[in-house]
Amino acid sequence: MTGEAVILKKPEHGISRRNIDADALRIIYRLHSLGFTAYLTGGAVRDMMLGKTPKDFDIATDARPGQIKKYFPRVFIIGRRFRLAHIHFREGKIIEVATFRKNPAPAVSDEPDANAAENIYGSPREDAFRRDITINALFYDAVTASVIDYVGGVVDLRRRRIRVIGDAGERFREDPVRIWRVIRYAARAGFAIDADTEREIAGQRHLLTQCSGARLFEEISKDLSHAETRFVIAGLREHGILRHIIGRAGAEYETNPACFARLLQFLSGADGETAQGVRIPLDEMAAILFWPWLEPLFTAAAGDMHPILKNAFVAAEMNVNLPKSLLSQVIEILVLAGRMIRALRNGRMRWSLRGRPQYPQASRLCFMIEKGRLPGNEESFENLFRQAFPQIPTWDRQRRRRI
Ligand code: ATP
Ligand code: MG
Repeated sequence: MTGEAVILKKPEHGISRRNIDADALRIIYRLHSLGFTAYLTGGAVRDMMLGKTPKDFDIATDARPGQIKKYFPRVFIIGRRFRLAHIHFREGKIIEVATFRKNPAPAVSDEPDANAAENIYGSPREDAFRRDITINALFYDAVTASVIDYVGGVVDLRRRRIRVIGDAGERFREDPVRIWRVIRYAARAGFAIDADTEREIAGQRHLLTQCSGARLFEEISKDLSHAETRFVIAGLREHGILRHIIGRAGAEYETNPACFARLLQFLSGADGETAQGVRIPLDEMAAILFWPWLEPLFTAAAGDMHPILKNAFVAAEMNVNLPKSLLSQVIEILVLAGRMIRALRNGRMRWSLRGRPQYPQASRLCFMIEKGRLPGNEESFENLFRQAFPQIPTWDRQRRRRI
């Protein structure tokens, strides 16, 4: 951890203040006027240097959470082990302001420590080094319009390379989720993974099975809500990691190219929509993720699919912990989509199912299964049904009579 930081001035980094969220800038200037250091950090700096629009603007500072609360309105302190300040703005916008910290020493005890703050908080340099990947550890100083690089992230950005900070094996053992993150950012940016890091992925990937299912769920939710899901899932498969996350479903995708090709086609359709600003609900994305794996069950079995699908999920032994309510929504979407597909073949549909909360998601999935893409504005499962059976009404006769 020696050596000076590399400082880039505006002509070298090309970041314009105009592309930075005005509230984030205001926070930075105010902290500065109070005598604190405050930088933009993480994904925001990385994305701006790549010419992309950042999703959010995180700030790192030497002000402590209590001080931030004192000087700004609407501050909520979150987190137990490491406290962060969330500053709330209109329309639900939140800007995260975190105090510079250092990498916790691996062997610290859980005992409350009188010097706890001194063991957690650190300098900007220490804060850069505790981060995961070099391109995620750059700071942008809005006051001097310069990028500050302690870890060689700028060179890696130019060489289009993902490199773990420090010893990759050690950093993966400290937190195996970093393996996933390396693959995610390589996939999203279209960067290569540095040879050392790549070797360690192969050696340590099994450690992902030791991560808590809740944490893995957080990670998969991030990827499923992003417009580059197909690249990340393909990267995870290529590195043999899908099986460590979604169990048998992952193993099937890793070993059955035709099944995986179908999944990729579905994900491309979904990514296209997300890129245009359509927000696909998480239950629908998860149903898309699992359909190609479960599809053969629908052709093999007759009768109620609920218990069959439930058993398949139990038998899959996934390490990701899908919350119970989400899992039952996903199963409902899959079952309804299966019924719709059957209806397109035999003309028999129970239209009262339209009242089910997951019907819209299922209708879109059914369209995807038939057409390989999500439906446009004027398209739906009903359209497909009417095209196939123009003479059959799309409501339940019996029900109509009873009303
Ligand atoms: P995006 O939000 O666009 O996916 P991001 O880089 O902002 O990308 P976050 O998950 O929001 O990613 O994390 C913010 C920053 O915190 C990262 O850029 C990285 O510097 C650091 N970070 C996140 N997770 C870890 C981790 N497991 N180990 C070390 N540093 C991490
Ligand atoms: Mg972020």
